[in-house]
Amino acid sequence: MSQRPSVLLIYTGGTIGMWADPSGALRPMDLAHLEEQVPELKRFAVDLHSVAFERPIDSSDMQPGDWVRIARIIGDRYAAHDGFVVLHGSDTMAYTASALSFLLEGLSKPVILTGSQLPIGTIRTDAKENLITAIEIAAARNAQGQPMVPEVAVYFEYQLMRGNRTVKVHAERFEAFRSPNWPVLAEAGVHLRYNEAAIGPYTTGPLTVHDRLDDRIAVIRLFPGIQADWVRHALSAPGLRAAILTTFGSGNGPTGDAFLGALREARERGVILLNVTQCVGGRVEQGRYVTSQAMQAMGVVGGADITVEAAVAKLMYLLGSERGTAAVEQALAVPIRGEFTLA
Ligand code: ASP
Repeated sequence: MSQRPSVLLIYTGGTIGMWADPSGALRPMDLAHLEEQVPELKRFAVDLHSVAFERPIDSSDMQPGDWVRIARIIGDRYAAHDGFVVLHGSDTMAYTASALSFLLEGLSKPVILTGSQLPIGTIRTDAKENLITAIEIAAARNAQGQPMVPEVAVYFEYQLMRGNRTVKVHAERFEAFRSPNWPVLAEAGVHLRYNEAAIGPYTTGPLTVHDRLDDRIAVIRLFPGIQADWVRHALSAPGLRAAILTTFGSGNGPTGDAFLGALREARERGVILLNVTQCVGGRVEQGRYVTSQAMQAMGVVGGADITVEAAVAKLMYLLGSERGTAAVEQALAVPIRGEFTLA
């Protein structure tokens, strides 16, 4: 390993790297253009390398195959770099960060996702600070010389957050992300202050890049008045293997026979059901109220304080790993990448 840390920028698209060419059209940047926009990059004691998606995309077009593509890029170049910065649109960044945390098993180097609400070339852009600090974090080492942040994280507007704990909470504000159920990993002010107790754990095993995701899942958001027939219909979709029920409060839902019957029929067909709260913070506690007891009794898995984004990614990962239904349900009930906290 050279004295200067080596960081790979992986540009996937999104607002951050768009610039207006002389005709006014928005185009993705390359590293040379980026350095032109952010001359501070040259002053870093970091060897910067870059790779870009052939066709950079708005993150609303991200597909599970793109998550695998990013994971493979990291896997292929893992030995050559000390850290990775993924430039990504903010809209689905929390999903990609979650997916990468599951796809990259045994990760011991930083993978920092960042983006911006305004393009890098605009005067009030938030992109420069996000990019510069993300690179600094990807290159940072602790007192033992190990990577400071050996995990997938999101850096946005002065906060570093565990990737699979993030949610996008604002469409316009620069503070677009929150980590409601896990402390921030670092805060950037005059100093970059790491919260070492919240980071890690540090793993020494080899990196395994998983590349199979099964997207035969659904997310059903409960609301007062939701029709049992519609729920039954949705849960009967051909091939459906699992559904996330986003529930009220600490994991509650209607107690009507028709609604519970629709869930029970799905369970009998082997559909995995995962209970994730609609609340931004706090956790599912099935059985605390009578309104979640029936779900508990029929084997709906309680999602604790997992986010919907992490639940989607984890389900796709577990279902793609050829585990049987019971093994997937077991793995859903324990944190495997720090994605939720056991009570
Ligand atoms: N729609 C854009 C995207 O997610 C927004 C952004 O980059 O922040 O790609």
